[in-house]
Amino acid sequence: MFIPKAIYYEKNIEDYELGRVLLEKYKDIPKITIENHNNIEEMRKKSNSEFADMKKNLIIGIRKTHKFTENHKTSDFLVPYTSSGCTAMCMYCYLVCNYNKCAYLRLFVNREQMLEKIIKVAQKSERELTFEIGSNSDLILENMITGNLIWTIENFANTKKVF
Ligand code: SF4
Repeated sequence: MFIPKAIYYEKNIEDYELGRVLLEKYKDIPKITIENHNNIEEMRKKSNSEFADMKKNLIIGIRKTHKFTENHKTSDFLVPYTSSGCTAMCMYCYLVCNYNKCAYLRLFVNREQMLEKIIKVAQKSERELTFEIGSNSDLILENMITGNLIWTIENFANTKKVF
């Protein structure tokens, strides 16, 4: 089980159900408020050698970018979803290449908004589409903290044309 050393969070996560759940779940963990999960000055100043220690923190915010990227390999679209980065440190992981020392786990609590967009795009399409929601993180690992994998599957279950 992942128990964060500290939680860095955007204040307005309190406006979202999942944000409130996480704040309650980690009520005994030290917390630091941040302006933007993308730009945490304290983290940016740390040296690369602090990588492992930075991974012990959990960052919680609101995802602001919802742009789908066309993908012609494993799916139709790579979709920004509920997390970026990861708490683990697999040596082969490409997340380190993408985020360097800031490859720590960031969670985004506006999951309803993200899922709603996927469903809308799917239902507008004349053919069946596949959306890849785990290209920026590890959803199984994230699920242990948020329950988002189950939440997503349950919400997809009653939706036509979404795989
Ligand atoms: S995203 Fe997967 S491969 Fe990468 S560090 Fe996390 S668990 Fe390992």
